[in-house]
Amino acid sequence: MQLYQEQTLRISNSLTGKKEIFKPINEGHVGMYVCGPTVYSNVHLGNCRTFMSFDMIFRYLRHLGYKVRYVRNITDAGHLVDDADEGEDKIAKKARLEKIEPMEVVQRYTVDFHYILDQFNFLPPSIEPTATGHIIEQLGIIKEILEKGYAYEVNGSVYFDVKKFNEKYEYGKLSGRKLEDMIANTRELAAQSEKKNPQDFALWKKAEPQHIMRWPSPWGDGFPGWHLECTAMSTKYLGETFDIHGGGMDLKFPHHECEIAQAEASNGHSPVNYWMHANMLTMNGKKMAKSTGNNILPGEIFSGENDILSKPFTPSVVRFFMMQAHYTSILDLSNDALLASEKGYHRLMDAIDNLKDLPTAEVSNFDIPEWRQKCYDAMNDDFNTPILIAHLFEGVKHINLIKEGKEKITDADKVLLQQTINDFVFDVLGLEHKTESNQDSNKLQGVVELLIQLRNEARSNRDFATSDKIRDQLSAMGIQLKDGKEGTTFSVS
Ligand SMILES: [Zn+2]
Repeated sequence: MQLYQEQTLRISNSLTGKKEIFKPINEGHVGMYVCGPTVYSNVHLGNCRTFMSFDMIFRYLRHLGYKVRYVRNITDAGHLVDDADEGEDKIAKKARLEKIEPMEVVQRYTVDFHYILDQFNFLPPSIEPTATGHIIEQLGIIKEILEKGYAYEVNGSVYFDVKKFNEKYEYGKLSGRKLEDMIANTRELAAQSEKKNPQDFALWKKAEPQHIMRWPSPWGDGFPGWHLECTAMSTKYLGETFDIHGGGMDLKFPHHECEIAQAEASNGHSPVNYWMHANMLTMNGKKMAKSTGNNILPGEIFSGENDILSKPFTPSVVRFFMMQAHYTSILDLSNDALLASEKGYHRLMDAIDNLKDLPTAEVSNFDIPEWRQKCYDAMNDDFNTPILIAHLFEGVKHINLIKEGKEKITDADKVLLQQTINDFVFDVLGLEHKTESNQDSNKLQGVVELLIQLRNEARSNRDFATSDKIRDQLSAMGIQLKDGKEGTTFSVS
């Protein structure tokens, strides 16, 4: 018996606007696709929030006993600066500005992306495919869409015919838009445009002579349109219809709308049963944007090197902060909010430290099985992590009362309490308890301070052989002493 057979999970489906009971296509298996990053710059904290929401969802599905195939792509070609299929490729532009190869840009920021996600304790996806690794599959889909009559070729580029598609299918159903309204609200196409209608989007773009990232095709050298890669990779690894497709709210239109259109035009049916969208992160009440400077990188939070912060915050504290909001709500980041989360995080971890030494008794005052089920109920209700955390703090309250001798717990209940904390705090929320390394660094600090004190004593006794020995041997271990007006300080390299 697997947990998913006992628990009823409901998911907010962006396609229907309803919270629906989750029923996978193949019992016990879940296929999930999440749009990954375009690797042309350091990953934003807002993107981290989106990916963290799906990491938590992945973790909970696995916890329930599902075998999950989680595909999250890397966009390494085809994403243009301008959403209207014009302008430079984002990666090629960065490569031109930095005078390096596009694939050097891709490598640099893919490594950064993985490094940051690792610090946040993300689980790796099951497959992480790249757009450039799936050009053949993308060409195959373009040919199918052309054969079915939903695309047209102009001067070496191929465009999706949205108007034609809308005669049989429904363009705009995910974002709740009507094609007639879109047409009424858009300006006329520029005279030089190759598109029949402004809503049409590129499946394949002809590469201008200076465009470095190019591949041969039946229509000449070019590169794929951005929306196409996700259709190609999700179909290849999860099938023509799969369970969950996720991404940031900003991708709903046009990106996900176009993915649906491409899949329906080539296969004749809807590609995804549950569409899920994670909401955005704001900072001090305003939208985060590089252009306004209202922006922060994950590394700046870990080091504290940003004007909005009074101190650094660990990745686990930031993760706890993000889990305190429901993934479909807007979350606002501020120094005060992080300070409050840090306090809460330590309160939770302190209680976990006290858990193993709790005395047991013949009876329990606290109904642990009922409390455990409340934790499941929260997660079953569209992954409601803030409610889950409220229940976990209910547990913290009882742990503290038992420790103070004001409440009792049986042996069996203590085991279940410990199991529940492990399941939800570490397995599902993905938090880490870093006290060991904290304790180690406290011990290191104490030991070095003791040596500094001994060195000072040696120096005041004019025993320079000993004082130099302490300094040199610490230096050989990578610990540098620095003598200043305020006394001696040290740094570890
Ligand atoms: Zn995508």
